[in-house]
Amino acid sequence: MELNQLTIHELQEKLKNGETSAVKVAESVFNRINAVEERVHSYIRLMKEEAMSAAEQSDKDLQSGKAGPLSGIPVALKDIVCTKGITTTCGSHILHNFIPPYDATVVEKLASAGAVFVGKANMDEFAMGSSTETSYFGPTRNPWDLTRIPGGSSGGSAAAVAADECIASIGSDTGGSIRQPAALCGVVGLKPTYGRVSRFGLIAFASSLDQIGPFTKDVEDCAIMMNVLAGYDPLESTSVKAEVPDYRQYVGRDVQGWKIGIPKEYFIEGIDPEVSAAVKDAIAVIEKNGGQCVDISLPHTEYCLAVYYIIAPAEASSNLARYDGVKYGLRTSEARDLLEMYKKTRREGFGAEVKRRIVIGTYALSSGYYDAYYKKASQVRALIKHDFEEAFKKCDIILTPTTPTPAFKIGEKTDNPLQMYLSDIFTISTNLAGIPGMSVPCGFTAAGLPIGMQFLAGHFEEGKLIQIASVYEKNAQIEKRRPRL
Ligand code: GLN
Repeated sequence: MELNQLTIHELQEKLKNGETSAVKVAESVFNRINAVEERVHSYIRLMKEEAMSAAEQSDKDLQSGKAGPLSGIPVALKDIVCTKGITTTCGSHILHNFIPPYDATVVEKLASAGAVFVGKANMDEFAMGSSTETSYFGPTRNPWDLTRIPGGSSGGSAAAVAADECIASIGSDTGGSIRQPAALCGVVGLKPTYGRVSRFGLIAFASSLDQIGPFTKDVEDCAIMMNVLAGYDPLESTSVKAEVPDYRQYVGRDVQGWKIGIPKEYFIEGIDPEVSAAVKDAIAVIEKNGGQCVDISLPHTEYCLAVYYIIAPAEASSNLARYDGVKYGLRTSEARDLLEMYKKTRREGFGAEVKRRIVIGTYALSSGYYDAYYKKASQVRALIKHDFEEAFKKCDIILTPTTPTPAFKIGEKTDNPLQMYLSDIFTISTNLAGIPGMSVPCGFTAAGLPIGMQFLAGHFEEGKLIQIASVYEKNAQIEKRRPRL
């Protein structure tokens, strides 16, 4: 196996006992990037120079006993987290030249843990999308089948891990943008509880839903990343002062007697038969290892998509008001007066999907419609949250498919926004309720496309997700495959 194919914990061993060096690991990642990036397009920007000097520093730290938990580990960052002195575009023309003057808290935390940043990963523009096709910089391709999408909006982060163009990566999840691409690319992805990970320096999409989380090659790596990412941040008002456990201690603990809630609303008609078969097999594995399935109901599930597509665009229309050509980002070259400058900048700078959301959101918030749309959606959101509270009285964990289908073809849904929105049908409720969710690979279709299943837990119970996912991963004996690129 090449170094770039290893997991964080495997590399940690090799780095610790001097079998390899951080520089060699970084070189192996960049060799891989040279070989496949042209076809996959995981990155908007590579950071080779910075990475090589960070790797040299990691080697010094490893030798002097000052190594952090991620020393020498190549990590990709979704281009939605601010990196000091390094362009951060959010996949948009309007921010194509934006150079943040500060690092996001997660970037700072990863850097102090010793991570080596490989580059800024591609994404749907402003994280609006499920396929990475709305990126101003062109789509990312699924490493398992280059004619297909990798999922989105964190498609670049997921593809980079799947294609071994990094060891782990960071994404953001507003309605499924970590879990859905993780499922479609065959990697592990975790959306933490709202408030668990600081969003300081995350470019805002929908502030009541956004969370940052990791993509990794296995469950133990996810725990290692969470140990670095989680925690209170005085710079972020929604981050929560709650104790952060050592997530690694949950890896490998058994789930004897756990009640696994199977929501009937998530095993619906229209779900791909290969996906539903894989998830049913996964349920059997968990039952064999001590889990007991119980039928549960999340009765307001049918409203999730509608509620999300009011709340998320409403918040986005407000968050995106700041891109007006005045302080940073694109400014149109010619305008007669201020109003025309605003209008032309936004017309030229935003893509079609972002404009669609701004229009919907502005409408939903406008006076006379606010009560009918935004207020009503917020009330139904409370019911959705309540569904989960009731469900968790009957079970320890909820298990669902992550997506209704495997990866679809590039271009297949670009003309049909509603079809595109339906890809997130199983992931959106999690964000509305603020609970953590994790996608774990659970097999392949006959055509060789990855399938993912989703575990959901109560607020701040990421440890439980890691525990059950690790039990599943260990016992499922899913064939270890790598995409043929
Ligand atoms: N696909 C969903 C959307 O377009 C979710 C995106 C996300 O989680 N950032 O809004």
